[in-house]
Amino acid sequence: MLKEKGILFDVTLCVGCGSCYQACKEKNNLPQTNKDFLKDHLSNNTFTVVEQYGKMYARKLCMHCNEPSCVSVCLVGAFNKNVTGAVLYDADKCIGCRYCMQACPHKIPRYEWGTTQPRVRKCTLCIDRVKAGKISACSEACPTEATLFGDMDQLVAVAKKRLKDDPEKYYQQIYGLEEAGGGHVLVLSPVPFEQLGYTSKLSKEPMPAFTMRAMEKIPPVVAVGGVFLSGMYWLTKRKNQIANEEKKTTNGNKEI
Ligand code: SF4
Ligand code: SF4
Ligand code: SF4
Repeated sequence: MLKEKGILFDVTLCVGCGSCYQACKEKNNLPQTNKDFLKDHLSNNTFTVVEQYGKMYARKLCMHCNEPSCVSVCLVGAFNKNVTGAVLYDADKCIGCRYCMQACPHKIPRYEWGTTQPRVRKCTLCIDRVKAGKISACSEACPTEATLFGDMDQLVAVAKKRLKDDPEKYYQQIYGLEEAGGGHVLVLSPVPFEQLGYTSKLSKEPMPAFTMRAMEKIPPVVAVGGVFLSGMYWLTKRKNQIANEEKKTTNGNKEI
């Protein structure tokens, strides 16, 4: 069985070269979205960014939460938590309600607004590479080991050791270890994390608990309406898919 995997990103080691950003693009066949990668934003075509804060650089990507609110709010199970710790998305199940985008405490998932069969898009923790015994593409590309990929227990140990061995160098917190119930992407920094654009003041309680409480307050008529609209969306999407598949078959027959 695969052990739980994760990423440890250390701001003090990052030189802002953008190799992680570029490797993610190439690995996921994503188009270039900005000539200056430091000015790019997360989008349906960008699963990780490197942001500049003075002389420091901070990576943003899905945190692969231990108890992900994107999973808990999804009415049809389109999001799930893999045994490796990766939080994954299944476009075939998705009904396009986008509750996952609303629920994410880190504001990560993005939507393909411009296509006829839109998907929710985000980092996969390179699950296919991990299954093949490799590390994530972004970690492999990083020349300074600012982005480390490995077993979660080892990453936590490394992070704790760095804080202990060099208390002057680091702000004494491992971001991502406990925030919103913790996850599989950990960050070390010389300054408080809100100075680097990370969502601060998150409770240590897993977000699904909050989300479920919030959802309980939604009037039944709104919830039922939402499910109805989502159902209509799914039916339309399925109809388009079948039409496209039939079209492909017809075209295929013509070529034969
Ligand atoms: S960061 Fe957001 S999208 Fe990623 S697992 Fe957590 S809730 Fe889901
Ligand atoms: S783990 Fe893979 S998908 Fe996620 S940011 Fe790194 S390269 Fe991209
Ligand atoms: S590849 Fe490594 S050093 Fe370069 S920007 Fe990414 S994390 Fe920083």
